[in-house]
Amino acid sequence: PKKAIIIGAGIAGIATAIRLAVKGFEVEVFEANSCPGGKLSEIKQNGFRFDAGPSLFTMPQYVDELFALAGEKPNASFTYQKLSMVCRYFYPDGTKVDAFNETNAFAAEISKKTSDQPGAIKKYLENSKRIYQITNHVFLKKSLHRLSTYLSFKTLKSVLRLTQIDAFRSMHKANHAFFTDKKMVQYADRFATYNGSNPFKAPATLNVIPHLEQHFGAYFPDGGMYQITLSLVELAERLGVKFHYNSPIEKIVLEKNSVKGVKIVERGFVSADIVISNSDVYFTYKKLLSEYPKLLPKRILRQERSSSALIFYWGIKKQFRQLDLHNIFFSEDYQKEFEHIWQQKSISDDPTIYLNISSKYEKKDAPEGCENWFTMINVPSNQGQNWDKLIAEARKDIIQKLSKALGEDIGELIVCESILDPRSIESKTFSYQGSLYGTSSNSQFAAFLRHSNKSSKIKNLFFCGGSVHPGGGIPLALLSAKIVSDWIGK
Ligand code: FAD
Repeated sequence: PKKAIIIGAGIAGIATAIRLAVKGFEVEVFEANSCPGGKLSEIKQNGFRFDAGPSLFTMPQYVDELFALAGEKPNASFTYQKLSMVCRYFYPDGTKVDAFNETNAFAAEISKKTSDQPGAIKKYLENSKRIYQITNHVFLKKSLHRLSTYLSFKTLKSVLRLTQIDAFRSMHKANHAFFTDKKMVQYADRFATYNGSNPFKAPATLNVIPHLEQHFGAYFPDGGMYQITLSLVELAERLGVKFHYNSPIEKIVLEKNSVKGVKIVERGFVSADIVISNSDVYFTYKKLLSEYPKLLPKRILRQERSSSALIFYWGIKKQFRQLDLHNIFFSEDYQKEFEHIWQQKSISDDPTIYLNISSKYEKKDAPEGCENWFTMINVPSNQGQNWDKLIAEARKDIIQKLSKALGEDIGELIVCESILDPRSIESKTFSYQGSLYGTSSNSQFAAFLRHSNKSSKIKNLFFCGGSVHPGGGIPLALLSAKIVSDWIGK
């Protein structure tokens, strides 16, 4: 059989390994870290377990599909439950809005808690559905870099309907047209952060995102998010894929612009017929292909990166009945917050806080009477800021804000703490500038400017993962694996 080497055991690398093993390839995955998952990994401390990165699970069908492809029953080794309440929103004036998955219940909640009518959210979600229907086939499931994509009738239809997908105004502007209440505009603007973008700049096409969450639903994997990684690694192993941990690849070896294999630290050369990089595309070129500067896609690598995150993983010695699995504590001034992130490359003193508590669903994740708090704010990507200072200030602001909202001194309740910031995201997962989702989607051309899943200059080199087409986030990273494997063929 032909041999495929995959650089990195991120979720897209694992999914690509499964797809190629099913096709009959001999597959080996080399991972720099001591465990699989990349951003989708876990942290354990003092009896608490935390999912390190992603916490919102959408489009589980793309995971199920991998089990089905391998001839296994999707619900045999990986299970999850659908959330009836997607997220609880806390506003600075004390209003609490529960985003129920069921549209009528959500609409009723909105008309009770805000000045918007139930019809507003329905119209907004219908618009989201329409954008999804026009874009999903082309922008998400196909390569935008293959002629065959453009030769299909469906694609041409999509590309010609750019006005209908709202590509020419900002998300914020569009949301102002859907809602009159500032609270609802803020709710809708937040979806830009799902791929690390700025709602005041990003095209309103990103209003496709709420459709994924409200229509297809939000889920919680039994055992926590890390089960997605673990169960897929086990599936890959059952298919014969070999995983090598603590095995950083230092070079992709070429001969006459064709891939010959890779060079692994302390191990040397390993040959391969094809190589798929799940490493950030920036570092793939800058480090693994540094001997070939002429092959560098300069324009693509110069693009603006998505935002990053600052996360405090707190063991909390108390349980809060007023909190749910996903909680958002909004800022007073959203525009100011994004100006801090995108113009000043800094952190506002009133950041919107995302608080995820997996122990609400998975009791084992925290000792009795306690909760595991994943407390995250959006921050700029790493450009050499004074992070120690910014983190100390943000920690103080976050504790103060949560203490006020919950009527309790949160600082007193923290029994253990770990921190992840743009620097450590960069060093632990090799993501350029610690960006969470590769390049940002702050321009309407972003979808076309992402790097292709196949190199146009190097034969038999492919790319998967959140830094290339179709984009960041678990569902899109999984789709990148599908595009790569379709491209590689039999
Ligand atoms: P990555 O996770 O980036 O992993 C790449 C892997 O390759 C790493 O393990 C790295 O060690 C390895 N590697 C790199 N270079 C080499 C080399 N030279 N040799 C060997 N190994 C190498 N997505 C969602 O869907 N929902 C969310 O709620 C969500 N929240 C997030 C919150 C945070 C804090 C973060 C960090 C991300 C979040 N995301 C979320 C985004 C999501 O985690 C990513 O888009 C997705 O996990 C990216 O997967 P990937 O396959 O691109 O690989």
